[in-house]
Amino acid sequence: MKADLSEYSVHDVVEGFTYNELEGKGLFGLSGHLTIQPEYQRNYIYADGKRDAAVINSLLNGYPLGIIYFNVTAPDTFEVLDGQQRITSIGRYVTGKFAIQYKNGMEQYFSGLSQELQDKILNYKLLVYKCSGDEDEIREWFKTINTAGIPLNDQELLNAVYSGPFVTSAKKVFSNSRNSNCMKWSAYIRGDVNRQAYLERALDWVSDGQISAYMSAHRQDHGIKELQTHFDTVIEWASTIFPTIEKEMRGLEWDRFYKEFHDTAYDTNHNDKEMHRLYADPYVTAKKGIFEYILGGEQRTELLQIRIFGEATKKTVYAQQTQQAKIKGTSNCPLCAFGSNANKTRMWKIGEMDADHVSAWSKGGVTSISNCQMLCKTHNRSKGNA
Ligand SMILES: [Zn+2]
Repeated sequence: MKADLSEYSVHDVVEGFTYNELEGKGLFGLSGHLTIQPEYQRNYIYADGKRDAAVINSLLNGYPLGIIYFNVTAPDTFEVLDGQQRITSIGRYVTGKFAIQYKNGMEQYFSGLSQELQDKILNYKLLVYKCSGDEDEIREWFKTINTAGIPLNDQELLNAVYSGPFVTSAKKVFSNSRNSNCMKWSAYIRGDVNRQAYLERALDWVSDGQISAYMSAHRQDHGIKELQTHFDTVIEWASTIFPTIEKEMRGLEWDRFYKEFHDTAYDTNHNDKEMHRLYADPYVTAKKGIFEYILGGEQRTELLQIRIFGEATKKTVYAQQTQQAKIKGTSNCPLCAFGSNANKTRMWKIGEMDADHVSAWSKGGVTSISNCQMLCKTHNRSKGNA
């Protein structure tokens, strides 16, 4: 890994500046020697205008703009590693794409500035590190640089490290907010499509969590068939099994569910009814657990976090049980008292007992004092259902 510090004037960097209006991307500068937005860069996101204006005001006031990083791809040929948004703001301003308010509060386009101010912008020196090295080194480098602006996230870094035809094709599908499937996918995937959340999930699923190994192996592929097919299969399966969309579906581990349960036959009508019933059940406190609960055959009630008995209820029930046990001369745990065992007459302290639903929640039992009994911890655990 080599990094040489150089200075470039704004004048040189914006020479031949090309901007793709449709995609909102700065494409080229430095008379064609600089690729401003390589495939791995996130889409241009200064478009709120405020940060665009802040960049230009920094130039006009001579404020530092932070270091910019170029990757040397061939002699005299560069890609922007970090600083793409700043360069795009400058290029867009100089080519008349937006105006800023400067001093007197008037909107000023570049062409409307005095010659002196235009020169001030064009002669501004950008501080640039030109880096050359292998993937691992550049990746490490990226982790340590977070200059002005929004730091790259993990998937953006991986897109940088493994840039190539595979990432290009994958981004067309999974990082494209104009893709009409995004709306459907957003019911299942959490995060921002522009910040690579959907691409990250698709890669995570197809690779069983080995995203960088997968990207490395497929880096030179021109197609993304396996990636797309697996993702579509999982989403299609989920939308068939649960016909009603609920907001708690978003961000669940759909790929794990698919791998675990896709061989199981389900009655979709039953699933839908059961889902609605559980959503309406006030004792179910973890709505997001409903889906895995249903997929697993409605056994694992711990996924639903059934509302538990309050401390006051436990104390009342404990006192009643203990009082009656003393009269009878048996243990205050009704299961210990029953039959013959070493604890038949043992008096447990309240801290040694847990509250139990006499009639299980899953069989319609409610979480109220009339359905509460205190059991010693061993018996409560062995009863083992909510
Ligand atoms: Zn017991």
